[in-house]
Amino acid sequence: MEKKTSQFKAEIAEMLDLVVNSLYSKKEIFLRELVSNASDAIDKAKFQGLTDKSLLADSPEWKIEIAVDAGAKTMMISDNGIGMDAADLERNLGTIASSGTKAFRQALKENKGADLPELIGQFGVGFYAAFMVADQVRVISKKRGTDAAFMWESDMKGGYSVSDATREEFGTSVMIHFKDDQAEYLDRWRVGELIKKYSDFIAYPVRFKKIDVPADEKEEDKKRREEDEAKPLNTMTALWKRAKKDVKKEEYAEFYKHLSHDWKDPLETIPFSGEGAVEFKALLFLPSEAGMELYMPQTKHGLSLYVRNVFIGDDFEMLLPDYLRFVKGVVDSADLPLNVSREMLQDDAVIAKIKSAVTSKILSTLEDLKKKGEDYRKFWASFGCVLKEGVRTDYANAERIKKLCLWPSAKTEAGTLVSLEEYVKDMAPGQKEIYYLCAPKVETARTAPALEQALKHKCDVLLFCDPVDEWLVDSLGEFDGKKFVDIARGDVQFGTETEREAEKTANEAAAKELKPLLEAIKKQYENDLAEVRLSTRLADSPACLVATANGLSPSMERMLRAMNKDAPKEKRILELNGSHPLIAKIKGLEGEALKDAVELLYDQALIAEGAPVADPARFGRLLVSLMMK
Ligand code: ADP
Repeated sequence: MEKKTSQFKAEIAEMLDLVVNSLYSKKEIFLRELVSNASDAIDKAKFQGLTDKSLLADSPEWKIEIAVDAGAKTMMISDNGIGMDAADLERNLGTIASSGTKAFRQALKENKGADLPELIGQFGVGFYAAFMVADQVRVISKKRGTDAAFMWESDMKGGYSVSDATREEFGTSVMIHFKDDQAEYLDRWRVGELIKKYSDFIAYPVRFKKIDVPADEKEEDKKRREEDEAKPLNTMTALWKRAKKDVKKEEYAEFYKHLSHDWKDPLETIPFSGEGAVEFKALLFLPSEAGMELYMPQTKHGLSLYVRNVFIGDDFEMLLPDYLRFVKGVVDSADLPLNVSREMLQDDAVIAKIKSAVTSKILSTLEDLKKKGEDYRKFWASFGCVLKEGVRTDYANAERIKKLCLWPSAKTEAGTLVSLEEYVKDMAPGQKEIYYLCAPKVETARTAPALEQALKHKCDVLLFCDPVDEWLVDSLGEFDGKKFVDIARGDVQFGTETEREAEKTANEAAAKELKPLLEAIKKQYENDLAEVRLSTRLADSPACLVATANGLSPSMERMLRAMNKDAPKEKRILELNGSHPLIAKIKGLEGEALKDAVELLYDQALIAEGAPVADPARFGRLLVSLMMK
């Protein structure tokens, strides 16, 4: 044929301009796109060969080859796939017939050209990505089933031409002449790295092509070159596409380590596939221990995303809810377009469906793990405080997540954790609510005076000592129809109806008798206390501090104060144990002696909950002088 030069259609020219100037910050992905096209071409040849055996008469050994010529500043990516004839070259690379570009055009029309840069990221315009790094691209191709080869050539600005060419093998070679500032891709090592990064799981071997050897090649260079050329650059194993029974445990572990940079084996490997509305394959891992990065706000989390075996990127956090950020793995879906941009994916319906299926699968894996026991305790110790966040942030799954939560409790010994189901099963007769106590440390929580009456009535109390627990409290709501109640806040009473009535009457009588003392204390601590009253929670201690029904807890107050020094001081309630002999003693005091005794009583209530006293030196002096007496 005669060489025919044409201009790109206006839309293509416009798109090329966008691709080159604004689409990708990472120019290196041009290689991924070209290797992916080569792989697709082989897929097509295999597929068409099924019905037309003559297409595979050369019994091809499927391969993708890369030749780099540093002197000429070129790279050639060759495949022995389906190939293109002159008309194909014209149609596929010069007009808008190709799938991706056509859809892109459609979207352009619907959006009347608005948001062009946002739109373009969505569509497969892979081949043209070559122009991000190249000032000239040449495609030489011989279509299977034909016997003539053709060349498509373009420097982008001057349109493209199609002409006759010579080529032995069926298939396509794309030859790139790099721009001056893109020389990095002439380095074999860099190319190998990119193939590993983006195309490791392409199903055909990607190799360096044997090159014409210079006559004076040094022995060591020869050895290195031959080594380079011998093995494929990619492993070709899409582990997530293989049936679980066909994959060795070590293979999964290796892949996990490659993915996570963890050096330990995963605690749990979760291969699964989504079917129905959205089809995808996923391979997820639970790490065995939390790495430092879990707590560092800058680090990225999320899963790696593949679209049809082609690596799109890692850290796709939109595939996982935040509270599962410790999960590692990959998702591969054919229902997403290549060249998707993160911004687009953020509110993509397909992504939302994958996320929801992935979440559900992880939760059900954890549910199974929990039934088995030991491993779950290990998991919980590392990741429980992260998983818990879901109670508050994932409304749809909050009930499932609550069931997965474990806490220390007042009745169980140190080191034991209880679930809500266990708690409810073990509730005391007549107990209607789930009791909890917030404290900065489990050790101080265990000896908190506020627990005394609860324990006396055989009611267990969950100890909320993770910083995140207190943040969750408002979202816990109910479990199994039972409300969560803070035993260090507002009015709490234990025992049967009759017991409660009797206690109330006794307290009222005692309050009358202790009125002057209660008032004196209130006056002395006017700025700190909202109320001084008799307690229904104390058994052995003389006094304790509790929050008002709607007031801030001490740790919340500390947090607010850290943010704003002038935050108003939260007033609490001092509760006295009316039947404690010390209270009777203090009642009889007057003047300075009463004041000092009240101060000691107040300070010891602070110490008992693990809080600092206002003036430790003064507390020390008061205590010493008391001991001297
Ligand atoms: P997409 O791959 O999304 O369709 P591209 O711009 O990457 O878009 O490619 C356009 C078309 O060119 C492809 O659909 C394919 O038909 C053809 N093509 C590209 N590379 C090759 C190749 N190596 N072998 C055969 N056909 C190819």
